[in-house]
Amino acid sequence: RKRNPGQDEFVQAVEDVAQDILPFVADHPEYHEAEILRRIAEPDRIVSFRVCWEDDDGNVRVERGWRVQNNNAVGPYKGGLRFSDSVTESVLKFLAFEQTFKNSLTGLPMGGGKGGSNFNPKGKSDREVMRFCQSFMSELFRHIGPDTDVPAGDIGVGAREIGYLFGQYKKLTGRWEGVLTGKASEYGGSKLRTEATGYGVVYFLREMLGARDEGLEGKSAVVSGSGNVALHAAEKLIAEGAKVLTLSDSDGFIHDKDGIDEEKLEWVKTLKLEKRGRIADYADEFDAEFHEGKAPWDVDCDIALPCATQNELDEDGAKALLDNDVLAVVEGANMPSTADASKAFRKAGILFGPAKAANAGGVAVSGLEMSQNSSRVSWEHDKLDRMLTELMQDIHGKCVEEGEGEDGHVDYVRGANIAGFRKVADAMLAFGVV
Ligand code: NDP
Repeated sequence: RKRNPGQDEFVQAVEDVAQDILPFVADHPEYHEAEILRRIAEPDRIVSFRVCWEDDDGNVRVERGWRVQNNNAVGPYKGGLRFSDSVTESVLKFLAFEQTFKNSLTGLPMGGGKGGSNFNPKGKSDREVMRFCQSFMSELFRHIGPDTDVPAGDIGVGAREIGYLFGQYKKLTGRWEGVLTGKASEYGGSKLRTEATGYGVVYFLREMLGARDEGLEGKSAVVSGSGNVALHAAEKLIAEGAKVLTLSDSDGFIHDKDGIDEEKLEWVKTLKLEKRGRIADYADEFDAEFHEGKAPWDVDCDIALPCATQNELDEDGAKALLDNDVLAVVEGANMPSTADASKAFRKAGILFGPAKAANAGGVAVSGLEMSQNSSRVSWEHDKLDRMLTELMQDIHGKCVEEGEGEDGHVDYVRGANIAGFRKVADAMLAFGVV
């Protein structure tokens, strides 16, 4: 905390990992003596830069951009770019730190990084977003490359932004190469990448339930968010026979007691992903309640998937879910549970899937996009879906291996932290003190 003043999110993420890793390294002096955790908790480097652009009225606007390159022990830095007015260096440091463990868990050769800007794309015209992306890439391009650092999308950075960023990279370098993932299929994007994080969350949940001889059929589910992760998680839940009751955005949540079916979800996809509308409109279109300024955690459910943003599920939300006998909470967003909420879920012994394991499907398919780009091939949807399913099963297996207690209860948070740490730590030991 003293070393990182004012960086609450980053400190929270490091403390979350440290509570499991410190007892673990006490039994593994080689990691302790080499100060591996402290080294991972100090990013390799942070690049911070000015992004200057002109809005549609001719005003000059100045924003700040960052790239946090946290750790490249097991592969090139890899992690998304976030454009939102809530972006700070602390948020990006926490995300890059988490990404290091998540990418390690996938088993693919990817280190951890994250970047973005405090630029808020909401309400900006297409041309404004394009000019901002071009200016952002005019500095970022010198710090990234297919073998050094491969950014992707995140909040506020979808297919449109990736297109503008990739176009500018190509213009500046004269090279077509797999420097970004999340590209459209016309220029090197992987099939299934858009769906992968949300689908992967549900595949992970399916594994957790399967271990208890439970399935998704007939289960009620509360989902927060209505962006890429939330909508694809909801889509897969519906396909598996679960009843999705809620979706949300930063204005509040909608509660559809009949359940959001495939048709209604298609309507939301058009609303949120194409028209960039507000979730409140759902309640005007269908028979549903809109709860302004609220999160959906006190809706009675079997399963909760927080898929919006960090710290959206606090201690009160956790209590409400536990009072309603929630069976499983699986994190689609990064660090959506506050430290207190996470503690409450672990103490209650419910199925609690942490983000770094449960939402790793997106970056895993990004890793597969990198492989396809390097070998100039394009794999089919079904093949990738099988690979994603196996990757999520494998991550689940690693969490069980490292997180299972003597009583047979699996602490997925501990399992994910230790399994993610071990691979990076072993690579760092091999490199010596550098
Ligand atoms: P999107 O930008 O597509 O969607 C984000 C959603 O969260 C929107 O519905 C947004 O609402 C909502 N939201 C944002 N802030 C708040 C808030 N303070 N309260 C309530 N709702 C809020 O992002 P993604 O779906 O891509 O990402 C969601 C989360 O998943 C993030 O934590 C991200 O880091 C994580 N993630 C994403 C991956 C991916 O592949 N996309 C991969 C792994 C993790 P609004 O429209 O009002 O802003």
